[in-house]
Amino acid sequence: MGEFELIRRFFAPAAGHRPDVALGIGDDAAVLRVPAGVELAVTTDTLVAGIHFPPDTAPDAIGHKSLAVSLSDLAAMGAEPAWATLALTVPGVDATWLAAFARGLSALASAHGVALVGGDTTRGPLSITMQALGFLPAGRALRRSGARPGDDLYVTGTLGDAGLALAGLQGRRIVPEDALQALRRRLDTPQPRVAEGLALRDLAVAAIDVSDGLLGDVGHLARASGVGVTIQVDGLPVSDLYRVHMGAECPWDLALTAGDDYELCFAAPAAQAHAVAERFAALRTSVTRIGSVYSGSGVRCQRRDGSAYTPGGTGYDHFAGPVS
Ligand code: ADP
Ligand code: MG
Repeated sequence: MGEFELIRRFFAPAAGHRPDVALGIGDDAAVLRVPAGVELAVTTDTLVAGIHFPPDTAPDAIGHKSLAVSLSDLAAMGAEPAWATLALTVPGVDATWLAAFARGLSALASAHGVALVGGDTTRGPLSITMQALGFLPAGRALRRSGARPGDDLYVTGTLGDAGLALAGLQGRRIVPEDALQALRRRLDTPQPRVAEGLALRDLAVAAIDVSDGLLGDVGHLARASGVGVTIQVDGLPVSDLYRVHMGAECPWDLALTAGDDYELCFAAPAAQAHAVAERFAALRTSVTRIGSVYSGSGVRCQRRDGSAYTPGGTGYDHFAGPVS
């Protein structure tokens, strides 16, 4: 199978049917119709085997995750996903692997109405670079920089499951096999919070997706906004599995610092608390107020009694590694 046959067979099905795609896969470049009054949000992520997913990850999960991480970025901007391009480097033509990868990718793309409009296919060590483009009403992007003293800080869903799965797989924690399988679904097939991001457009003043650990990502939001943030660790939302298998000691550290949650963290004025609760109830997505914004800098973690909590790490940094 040659390069062109490979593209036609595996990736053409993810092209979808969007009327705003004037020209999709097959020419030298895609041609896309951007609606009037719309700004484009554009994001790129690379997934490297062994860094962004365990080497034994099922290929359909790799396909899913490749797009999910980019849709999560768009969600954090409040953008509506529209198009994607894929730069794929594979060691060779393994038709079974490619079919499963494309199936995982196509399923998530079609669930969100995303058209794969182009890409590049090369031979080499497995690496996947996805670019996703989404629509924003002009001037309405949810930036990291809009948080103000007095705002509340929230997070969607639960934190730490993917981190606990990875810790279990790497033998850093003992996790029974059935629990590990369930936790691993969070690691392998994260569900990007697209509808939640759209719902936050007129509610949140700042947002970020939690991909490298809550503490680090809140740090980015705080720095961009020029504010300080207090996180109440006792109230951090974690799953029942997390609660059971983290045990008594250091129960919050993975929820605070492990990556791959793909939840949204956002700031909203305190006066919007009721609106936030209502909006997320309508979406049937859990949302938790995890802290507040103050005039200052940095991120501090607090226990219920007001005492300071010092976590065992600060989040994932590709160049520094986990630091303490
Ligand atoms: P060129 O050499 O002109 O850049 P390519 O041979 O790289 O063209 O690609 C041919 C067509 O297939 C282009 O439209 C390109 O966007 C598309 N394409 C290549 N690889 C992929 C892929 N992995 N997924 C989707 N489209 C792809
Ligand atoms: Mg090319």
